[in-house]
Amino acid sequence: MSLNPVGQEFLAFVFYFLYANFFEWAFHKFLFHSPRIIKATYKAHHLVHHQRYKYEIESYEWQSEYEKDHIAMDWFALPLFVGFHLPIFMLLQWATGWQSVWGGVGAVVAYYAVYEYFHYFMHVPSNRWFERTRAFKFSKEHHRIHHKYMNENLNVFLPIADMCLGTYRSIASVAAQTAGPVSTGGKDAVPPIPAPSKLSRKEA
Ligand SMILES: [Zn+2]
Ligand SMILES: [Zn+2]
Repeated sequence: MSLNPVGQEFLAFVFYFLYANFFEWAFHKFLFHSPRIIKATYKAHHLVHHQRYKYEIESYEWQSEYEKDHIAMDWFALPLFVGFHLPIFMLLQWATGWQSVWGGVGAVVAYYAVYEYFHYFMHVPSNRWFERTRAFKFSKEHHRIHHKYMNENLNVFLPIADMCLGTYRSIASVAAQTAGPVSTGGKDAVPPIPAPSKLSRKEA
């Protein structure tokens, strides 16, 4: 295909942004909700973030007695994501002859930024303009369901991988069965952890 380098980078951005959606799904499932690969990410997310912020709205949204922490990933997460992917992007650019490295790096940075920004304001409502959009409200409720059913809704803001890989739980299906207890239980249960003030990790 004869496409100029800018067009190639743009297509690469779209392709890699979509890829990032599946990467997020896998990362969330295997590093945030399983201790097998890295214990620190499991502890920070599964044991701390999910324990602090639960499905019930008064728990899901930040309350004044909380510290505004245990939401964002550590600062070095983005350099790690870019560093991990850069050799892959370079290899694929070399193999295909397509100008695509910058599109890939841009997609990783953009995906990470939207993920962190959205996730933070899902838990800490601040009445920003985008919080009133239908897309954000949908994502916020989609993620709230994940705080109840941790094996489902593993995408935070765009549930493409959830839909493709069978982990999508719709808002309507949960609303229809709100008669039951809303706290986590069974395979989704997490053990109790120390009071939030005694926690020191600042991570998702
Ligand atoms: Zn969350
Ligand atoms: Zn999670």
